[in-house]
Amino acid sequence: MSRVYNFSAGPSMLPLSVLEKAKNEITDQAGSGMSVMEMSHRSKPFEAIIGAAEANFRKLMNIPDNYKVLFLQGGATQQFSAVPLNLMKTGKADYVISGQFSKKAADEAKKFGEVKIIGSSADKNFTYVPKITKADISPDADYVHICFNNTIFGTKYNYIPDTGNIPLIADLSSCILSTPIDVTKFGLIYAGAQKNMGPAGLTVVIVREDLIGFARKDTPVMLDYKVQAENDSMYNTPPCFSIYIAGLVFEWLLELGGLEEMEKINLRKANMLYEYLDNSKLFKPTAEKEFRSIMNVCFVTGNEELDKKFCSEVSKAGFVNLKGHRSVGGMRASIYNAMPTEGIEKLIVFMKEFERNNTQCTILN
Ligand SMILES: *Cc1c(COP(=O)(O)O)cnc(C)c1O
Repeated sequence: MSRVYNFSAGPSMLPLSVLEKAKNEITDQAGSGMSVMEMSHRSKPFEAIIGAAEANFRKLMNIPDNYKVLFLQGGATQQFSAVPLNLMKTGKADYVISGQFSKKAADEAKKFGEVKIIGSSADKNFTYVPKITKADISPDADYVHICFNNTIFGTKYNYIPDTGNIPLIADLSSCILSTPIDVTKFGLIYAGAQKNMGPAGLTVVIVREDLIGFARKDTPVMLDYKVQAENDSMYNTPPCFSIYIAGLVFEWLLELGGLEEMEKINLRKANMLYEYLDNSKLFKPTAEKEFRSIMNVCFVTGNEELDKKFCSEVSKAGFVNLKGHRSVGGMRASIYNAMPTEGIEKLIVFMKEFERNNTQCTILN
């Protein structure tokens, strides 16, 4: 068996034990004589799968009873539309732009109401996260929207904005389940599964119950949180296979010791890589120190040709998908929960070797 270290931003690595468990069960799910992909979503075995997935997810994130958990489709991007359709009660919302996804979310919301941009880090190419205080927030906003971890630029909030009585809505696609987070600080959290939870096709929404039931009249039925909540995410066929795999990932996390333990491992992994980058003569991390993401680590050499050479050589060595997002260039190591510590240790060994072989060249040039 040959597995690479996959540093993709998403879809990304899954724990090997999860893949192996799925492999073993793929033709016969729990003695049903069929695959999870072949069974009715209304069947007993599938009910058990989705029920356990929700219970374990609630346990991991310590989700209070007054929040609903929805297992939806359409990706995080569909939530860019669903959030304003459901939550813009008076037609006004505040958005913070800290990267490309938060900009897309704001642009989509503009179709449905008045969007005020109350903070942006576009002035420094999103290398930091704007500091939002209560004074920045419109008193009549229906909600405040943020993107907590900026996948493309490798930054994350190092604080949770205090929005008072105004619901805080957060896109957690690229950091959900990476550290404990206080769900009660948010009105709604959403995340596409394909970064840190499972396969693409599943989007998880955690929504406080008092925010459900205010969708615009013309909201498409599939985007209405009330419909989805009342039908336990089964108004239509849910993404059964993705829910099943995510359920295995939740079990894996619980066995590991939950999110406190996961956070320790993630901090160790990220610190190791940043420490090397901070001391490197060739590579430089791009995000401002206090806003560094522990999931997406962006760095450059400062020379595009050398970046290209690095990406090509590193991938031949079995470390794949380290090329930065097409809009920013450079490199990005996405080191989600499933990336083993040894993947980063070995990457650093490779980078040191590359640095030795290439610093001479740059001086000669
Ligand atoms: C990947 C990503 C998205 C887009 O997710 P889709 O599921 O592809 O729609 C949105 N927001 C963040 C923060 C992401 O990382």
